[in-house]
Amino acid sequence: DRPARFHRKLICLSDGDSTSSSPIRVMQWNILAQALGEGLDSFVQCPLEALSWSRRKYLILEEILTYRPHILCLQEVDHYYDTFQPVLAGLGYSSHFCPKPWSPCLDVEGNNGPDGCALFFDQSRFELLDSVNIRLSAIRIPTNQVAVVTTLRCRTTGRCLCVAVTHLKARSGWEWLRSAQGSDLLRHLQNLVQKHSSGPAGEPNTDIPLLICGDFNAVPTEEVYRRFATSPLGLDSAYKKLSQDGLTEPEYTTWKIRPTGECCSTLDYIWYSQDTLRVDAVLDMPTEEEIGPNRLPSFSYPSDHLSLVCDFSFKEKD
Ligand code: NDP
Ligand code: CA
Repeated sequence: DRPARFHRKLICLSDGDSTSSSPIRVMQWNILAQALGEGLDSFVQCPLEALSWSRRKYLILEEILTYRPHILCLQEVDHYYDTFQPVLAGLGYSSHFCPKPWSPCLDVEGNNGPDGCALFFDQSRFELLDSVNIRLSAIRIPTNQVAVVTTLRCRTTGRCLCVAVTHLKARSGWEWLRSAQGSDLLRHLQNLVQKHSSGPAGEPNTDIPLLICGDFNAVPTEEVYRRFATSPLGLDSAYKKLSQDGLTEPEYTTWKIRPTGECCSTLDYIWYSQDTLRVDAVLDMPTEEEIGPNRLPSFSYPSDHLSLVCDFSFKEKD
């Protein structure tokens, strides 16, 4: 009794011969915490029935299984221990979870624990080297936002990869905090890349490719976006590749209707090291028509955010 979901097309970018035969598929998705969706979000056009966990969990898992990413980065996970960790472990994924210190989920009656960020990787493709949970700081003060940073070795190529997942502070008025949190994450990543570098002592090594997936809660004109785009780590945002000119972010990654009005904006990103990684393919976004007049979430789409899926491959070393 729900409409079949629309097919999203994988847009291939690389010219035939340079396309990797076994790219690394990455998915970024804020899956909407169950406690927030039912308890605090007020999605006024979405029937409560569509928000039940018994429905949503299958839609979320169906989407993950449709694309079968090698690396899966999720935000607002409040069913890690009872659902995602065990189900995805059965499918060959290893994972790390970092709950928010003061998750707003805990304010909701009947909650299932705190929400947080989770990072899953396909164990047949990657070997774990290291994983750290980070509480992001702003002007040295710990905040309520977190990140998981995992360093992996690709079993196909032997190359290392550092992957981060984060969810920055929401709402307008907090642009300065998002910027500070983003800077803190960049600082951590800079340190990690140096720690894992195998280059000659003292020489800065930017060889370990980085992937940073997140709900930044920031539109592309915000300070935190600029910090990432201009950081010395050499990052670029993968979804720009979907645009005609290759320089423009999508029109939306989230689209919802609250009592305060409609919110259609781009807040989610997959950042990657442009010197060491190549984007081979990007999954296109559903159209306004496919999303429908009541926007997200709905019986067809379990979250108010859309998933981002990209295929990457390592660039050849010079
Ligand atoms: P954020 O402002 O970052 O938002 C938390 C969640 O609310 C996000 O998942 C966000 O989703 C969602 N959200 C955003 N906009 C709206 C909206 N207009 N209506 C409903 N939900 C929305 O929260 P914080 O991490 O700063 O935590 C705030 C809560 O944490 C407080 O309500 C408090 O309960 C608790 N807290 C308690 C402390 C304590 O000392 N006890 C200290 C700090 C926090 P999205 O990202 O998708 O937009
Ligand atoms: Ca949310």
